[in-house]
Amino acid sequence: MAVGVERTEASPAFNPLLGPLGPDREMIQRCIHCGLCTTSCPTFALLGNEMDSPRGRIYLMRMVIDGEMAVNETVLKHLDRCLDCRACETACPSGVRYGSLIEAAREGLEKVRGRGPGARLLRRFLFRWLLPNRALLGLAAAGTRLYQRTFLRPLLLGLGLIPKELARLEPMLPEAPPLSSMLPLPGEVAPAGEERCRVAFFGGCLQSALFGDVNRAAVRALAANGARVVIPSSQTCCGALQAHAGDRETARLLARRNLEAIDPSQYDAIVLAVSGCGAMLHEYGELLAGDPAFAARAKVFSSKVADVTAFLAKLGPRRARHPEPQRVAYHHPCHLYHAMKVRQEPLKVLEAIGNVEAVPLKESDWCCGSAGSYNLTQTELSMRLLDRKMGHIRAAGAPVVCTGNPGCQIQIAYGARERGMELRVVHPVVLLDEAYRAAGFYDGAGLP
Ligand code: SF4
Ligand code: SF4
Repeated sequence: MAVGVERTEASPAFNPLLGPLGPDREMIQRCIHCGLCTTSCPTFALLGNEMDSPRGRIYLMRMVIDGEMAVNETVLKHLDRCLDCRACETACPSGVRYGSLIEAAREGLEKVRGRGPGARLLRRFLFRWLLPNRALLGLAAAGTRLYQRTFLRPLLLGLGLIPKELARLEPMLPEAPPLSSMLPLPGEVAPAGEERCRVAFFGGCLQSALFGDVNRAAVRALAANGARVVIPSSQTCCGALQAHAGDRETARLLARRNLEAIDPSQYDAIVLAVSGCGAMLHEYGELLAGDPAFAARAKVFSSKVADVTAFLAKLGPRRARHPEPQRVAYHHPCHLYHAMKVRQEPLKVLEAIGNVEAVPLKESDWCCGSAGSYNLTQTELSMRLLDRKMGHIRAAGAPVVCTGNPGCQIQIAYGARERGMELRVVHPVVLLDEAYRAAGFYDGAGLP
């Protein structure tokens, strides 16, 4: 296959993609270059360039690994443009696990990327200090709310006091929630009625700071379906944003902390309502496969990770009627659909809610362009994908979009604001929770 890349001499002394943590050569060899993945790749659909397809990116990785070319601007550009959405994995007949390849490649590429000290410090601050620190994140969310709700926003924007790059991204900021939704969940929530199972609940860092109401709704809905829900207080950020951005060292560090915080042998499942984190927790076994102290525990842990919709669908959720009629289009978060393979379960949860009508959404399994920090680092491509998504949402004609990932929620809500569309973007479990509340399932149960 001719990809038409500009080759530059590889250095025999150092190859950033070689070594035990680099992309798995055997996995790369599984690619038979059939190209079946290309039609499901959003970046190939937008750009029509082989090097922006999964096949082309795998070819680039192979050439670097084999020393046929050095890491140059071409390699970085095309690998950076990948969303890590993993739609190619779903399409691949050879079982190429592309997500593990691109994340390992990004970890290697960080060693030769030549970021300046300021950029390196910013990454360190975000990935190592801010995201895993609940108090700092809460402070940041509270500061954002203050900025959004007072004279500060018009003042700072009007006087041009916000740096140009940040001012460009500022409209994408989600609306920060009230302080009450940032309060930590209790350590344990008893089931409402007979106990059917015992689960650990994983909150997620940004989810807890910005979508604490979704976590509360999930915990209540689990309890209403007979789950005893334990919320271990020493859990931390899952490491997904770090892994996607090439900082798997921090992701491994955080994974070890979460494995210390949550002993999987104590629970029937580790449940969460944030699919980006779910996919990461689901892969702790692989992430720590080479760590003799944690490998076995990580494997058990990963096998018990369940998205809240999948867990409720398995329990067979109690049915209840929503107090208001809801026309709902469902958008599949990439990591739930392609990585965790949770596809029908969110729809089953919606089916359990009376008064909800699910309407079809074209390309509902296509990335919305959020993809971790992609909307910040590859804004132009991200906005083109969002435009495509919003066109389909408009055509579906539903006033409510359901989706199970905060990144998708933020991106689609931003798309609606920009286009002046009246749209509610909500996690499916929130609609279920509203129906349960209206049906009186929580009366007297003392739930959070
Ligand atoms: S992960 Fe998504 S964007 Fe990247 S190559 Fe696969 S389908 Fe394309
Ligand atoms: S579908 Fe799989 S085997 Fe075929 S080109 Fe894509 S990654 Fe390679």
